Amino acid sequence: PGAPVLPRVPGRPSDSSRAAGGTPACSGNKQQNQQIECIVCGDKSSGKHYGQFTCEGCKSFFKRSVRRNLSYTCRATRSCPVDQHHRNQCQYCRLKKCLKVGMRREG
Ligand SMILES: [Zn+2]
Ligand SMILES: [Zn+2]
Repeated sequence: PGAPVLPRVPGRPSDSSRAAGGTPACSGNKQQNQQIECIVCGDKSSGKHYGQFTCEGCKSFFKRSVRRNLSYTCRATRSCPVDQHHRNQCQYCRLKKCLKVGMRREG
């Protein structure tokens, strides 16, 4: 006969096994230690803005752009790098990336 199986209380199925870094999917988590990067340029994110985690720079850039309905022009091939160091070089590509990653003006 089998060993006696103790009825375990469900609810915490093998917790503490999620230590490996994952994607910050939960929005209800208040983890202040966890540093989230700006999804647009990779800078330090200050929180969720317009639906995505962005830095202050990208937040205000996006806000400015949609508020004033600005339209930019790319002087290159519309594939400029957008990161901390290049994000100010091409506003067209920066705004394009903002929209591509899912920022919404209704935010
Ligand atoms: Zn940014
Ligand atoms: Zn560009």
